[in-house]
Amino acid sequence: MTLHHFSITKPDSRSVHFFSRQPFPEGRDVLHFGLTRSPDWTPPTLRVSHLTGERVSVSAARQNRPHLPNASSCPLCPASPASSPAVQASVEAPSVSFAYDWIVFENLYPALWLENQTGHCEVIVYTKAHEGSLGALPLENLEGLIEVWQHRSLHLGERDDIECVFLFENRGAEIGVTLHHPHGQIYAFNHTPPRLAAELDYAERYYAQNMTCLICDVAADHSRRGDLLLHAGEHIIVFMPEAPKFPYEVHITTRQHRTHIERLTEPEVKELAVVLKKLVAAYDRLFNFPLPYIMQHHQCPSHARGHHSFHWNIQFTPFHRSADKLKYLAGAETGMGFFVNDSLPEEKVKELRAVWEGA
Ligand SMILES: [Zn+2]
Ligand SMILES: [Zn+2]
Repeated sequence: MTLHHFSITKPDSRSVHFFSRQPFPEGRDVLHFGLTRSPDWTPPTLRVSHLTGERVSVSAARQNRPHLPNASSCPLCPASPASSPAVQASVEAPSVSFAYDWIVFENLYPALWLENQTGHCEVIVYTKAHEGSLGALPLENLEGLIEVWQHRSLHLGERDDIECVFLFENRGAEIGVTLHHPHGQIYAFNHTPPRLAAELDYAERYYAQNMTCLICDVAADHSRRGDLLLHAGEHIIVFMPEAPKFPYEVHITTRQHRTHIERLTEPEVKELAVVLKKLVAAYDRLFNFPLPYIMQHHQCPSHARGHHSFHWNIQFTPFHRSADKLKYLAGAETGMGFFVNDSLPEEKVKELRAVWEGA
């Protein structure tokens, strides 16, 4: 479906993108720009680890982020144009004379910054409502949100100073989220971070041996064998990996080889919306509370459009191992990157299947 896009720049140089299913009107007035950076803001810088050469973002301004504000002081809730200038200046969404469905803006507290060529960080607000989640969005809103992901991944990825685009969502205080309002994020990196680099390298070696894409083959294998499968649709496969790092880890990918989210076709987007809604709703039914998770899109570096060996996929990593216990990244995980999973995926997938179709 058609997605209309219009962008403005705030007085603090941050970009704001409006998306709508309806065409924007000719006259588009900004009545108030909303929140802008404080004068004492300092930009992030990337430093290089003396041990591995990995980059670390040093971003001291992030200490000043609001921590779990309630709805009355949430910076992601839009302000009414009739509210006081002080209220309008306290929220991110500018007050504008036109309607829109989704808003994306440059992060007020970024870990990466275009002006020093380290990258770019954006916030994608899922809905104007303070309460809710990915799983509670109406299907057509979820389809639109996926199209917003496609737009941002494509357009950020076209820049010469961006190497790869990472879409993700942190949900839940246990994961470290600082705002409850339903939203996701984008980190557009000037380099390929170590985890993705390892996945690309492994997939490249698999391709050299087999002349096929690793994730195409894994998706087909899960579809065939079925023991770790949650959904095998016409276009989309949802499964628990054979070696999950977290007890309720679930991966989503396409049957067809797709390098980037923007390469998904309209039927694939529609089926992805259905399974995202089902998965998040199933997670929330699992223990009867909104299950905290990290949702991560892993995709090819942006300029590797014809990549044959790596394939877009979403990885959901909830940190719970039971209703009242969390999986912590302790000695082996934090120290050595070596994960120990205390559960059998063949059993855990049955728990998710039991809540997959709804109450
Ligand atoms: Zn809010
Ligand atoms: Zn593939």
